[in-house]
Amino acid sequence: MELRNEAGLNRLTYVFDLDGVIYRGYELQPHAREVILTLRNQGHAVRFYTNNSAKSRQSYVLKLDSLGIPTPIEDIMTSSYATALYFIEQNAVGKTVYRIGERGMVEEFEAVGMKVIYGDEDPDAHIDYVVVGIDRDFTYRKLARAQQAILQGAEFIATNRDATFPIEGGSILPGAGPLIAAVVIATGQEPFVVGKPETYAFNKILELTGTPPERATMVGDRLDTDILVGNRAGAHSVLVLTGISSREEAENAADGLKPERIISTLGELL
Ligand SMILES: [Mg+2]
Repeated sequence: MELRNEAGLNRLTYVFDLDGVIYRGYELQPHAREVILTLRNQGHAVRFYTNNSAKSRQSYVLKLDSLGIPTPIEDIMTSSYATALYFIEQNAVGKTVYRIGERGMVEEFEAVGMKVIYGDEDPDAHIDYVVVGIDRDFTYRKLARAQQAILQGAEFIATNRDATFPIEGGSILPGAGPLIAAVVIATGQEPFVVGKPETYAFNKILELTGTPPERATMVGDRLDTDILVGNRAGAHSVLVLTGISSREEAENAADGLKPERIISTLGELL
């Protein structure tokens, strides 16, 4: 893997997961800031990509800024934003989405001109899409409405299928995956999945940066999302051991889940 270059020449694209890689909670990971700034100074493209659909890209701009990594909004990809890009690609702008999801989702969808319905709102509306992500106010009524809409022909989209949602202090809560599973069982249909480890959003990053996959590197802390998507997309993959997956898990992982490199901290990336 070519890691050094002259500014502007041999430009590479680095895609960093956020939680467990750049920060943990509100604490920067070792060397994170220095590595990002160095890569940018060397002329490489740096992008951040999180599966978390609950927050908007703007909220990540604010968070990274507060951690000393000022970042333009264009450099951030989330599973909600990638879903918004999917709507644009489908010529679906202006159509109606029923969301099982949080604030970040509605912000990204409305920003591209979608009509977004939540909960019991607008009960007679025709629904074109049902998007399911993490929703910490998930209810039986929302499940029922999603089910009805999908059975009546709405396209079923999932932002990401993470089974768990890591919170401060190392504990976990249910992620989007269990909510999606409920909709799958209720409808007998499988969703189109936008986030990691599916390649849609990752490939959007490559497309937007004009990067062929062999010139891209996915840097993440999780084998079954970050590393798998990098490998599936034909990019390089680097596991950093500051988050969820361990060296032992990486070394014993099946082919698609094996990172090309394992590093203890981001400092070793350079
Ligand atoms: Mg992570």
